[in-house]
Amino acid sequence: MKIGVIGGGQLGRMLALAGTPLGQHFAFLDPAPDACAQALGEHIRADYSDRDHLRQLADEADVVTFEFESVPADTVAFLSQFVPVFPNAESLRIARDRWFEKSMFQDLGIPTPEFADIQSQDNLEAAVKRIGLPAVIKTRTLGYDGKGQKVLRHPEDVHGAFAELGNVPCILEGFVSFSGEVSLIAVRARNGETRFYPLVHNTHVNGVLSLSVASTNHPLQALAEDYVSRVLDKLDYVGVLAFEFFEVDGGLKANEIAPRVHNSGHWTIEGAECSQFENHLRAIAGLPLGSTAKVGESAMLNFIGEVPPVEQITAIADCHLHHYGKAFKVGRKVGHVTLRCADAQSLAARINDVQQLLTAVGH
Ligand code: AMP
Repeated sequence: MKIGVIGGGQLGRMLALAGTPLGQHFAFLDPAPDACAQALGEHIRADYSDRDHLRQLADEADVVTFEFESVPADTVAFLSQFVPVFPNAESLRIARDRWFEKSMFQDLGIPTPEFADIQSQDNLEAAVKRIGLPAVIKTRTLGYDGKGQKVLRHPEDVHGAFAELGNVPCILEGFVSFSGEVSLIAVRARNGETRFYPLVHNTHVNGVLSLSVASTNHPLQALAEDYVSRVLDKLDYVGVLAFEFFEVDGGLKANEIAPRVHNSGHWTIEGAECSQFENHLRAIAGLPLGSTAKVGESAMLNFIGEVPPVEQITAIADCHLHHYGKAFKVGRKVGHVTLRCADAQSLAARINDVQQLLTAVGH
């Protein structure tokens, strides 16, 4: 079976690493000459709206999927005429726009921060009066890793904030004083069967994910599964979906969904019976889902900008390196490690080892 992937970055690369043992082959459509997934499959180097090359991908592939959500809607609609596309067009339409996303959460009875649609500076000022400060203004589309957003703490931060974000449609959210951030990675098969990985605790630095730790018997697991099921069923979703929540007052508030494999699920490669990558491929290919159970205690640490010396990382016990083969660039995710240990105490010690190494090499 051939899997077509829109995007050829590290998520595509890790999909191919998981799918190759299943006998799957891969083609990646990505305009970047150095797309790092090309080491694992065919690289169709073309723009995401290039119909000739989209048609080529559709003709070659048995099923098409995505590694990012800001794919143009026309691209999805065009491909869907010729080949099954998962997740479906409606899931991408909702997930790429924060206003549609939060409105859907509200319709499904899933708690969210207070929010408002912002089309102008006047809208913003009216919304700040209603929601209050601090608040966060975010572009409705194309934001990621803390980009396209600004925290408004004082009245003077509000002046000109709409222009600062580029005079594009935005959403204003009440600032959540959360006690933690968690994500739930779920997978739903073509027949509707759904499985969940354990909730993951996430730590961000400057808006970018830094550390994910898989939980054991998290008291909010059942609640999170209930919320995520509502979304999966509403969207008739197929594949892996990541749902990010704020933990607040012993409950959860929805932040956002990602209709794809997710950075906070990378630990599953070594830390779960069947990884998020393999389960995504099983789901879209119509295969039975694999077990989402943890094996041991796991965490993931991201490498941003550059990967520390390989001989030093591999000297750390229980440490599994994933080097994406990407060139150095400030702020870019270039690799990660999974730590998998027998117990929580050893895991804490190994996390400390990796953090010390990162400090020593100036990260
Ligand atoms: P996002 O791109 O929406 O995931 O936001 C990036 C990070 O900014 C989140 O992981 C949070 O740490 C923080 N953040 C986003 N929205 C809010 C909010 N409404 N209140 C407090 N912190 C937020």
